[in-house]
Amino acid sequence: MSIGRVATTGKTRICPHCKATILDSASICPACHHHLRFDPKAIVERRAQASFSALRVEGSFRHPQATGSPWEYSVVVSIRNDRGEEVARRVVGVGALQANEGCTVTMSIDVFAPHGVK
Ligand SMILES: [Zn+2]
Repeated sequence: MSIGRVATTGKTRICPHCKATILDSASICPACHHHLRFDPKAIVERRAQASFSALRVEGSFRHPQATGSPWEYSVVVSIRNDRGEEVARRVVGVGALQANEGCTVTMSIDVFAPHGVK
């Protein structure tokens, strides 16, 4: 473990392809899946890091009527810290459902443990 790596933990940058805020350590954008750098050493290091999916939730909803006026929806994600303080809140998508139309939303949290999971 080096001091330099500790200092960069949690550092963010903007994906040049989709403009999402992502981890500086990411070699592939989790939003648009573009490769961000061709640095074989970085890719090997990244693969060696322990990572796991802390949460993956998927849900579907449907306009239940065969006919009728369309519905609208908003997909909102909120992040709170241990003290219950909201540190981020984003509308990640909005849309409309026509009669008898459905939609599925998947939300996942990937955790990277650069120095292993202990
Ligand atoms: Zn991207």
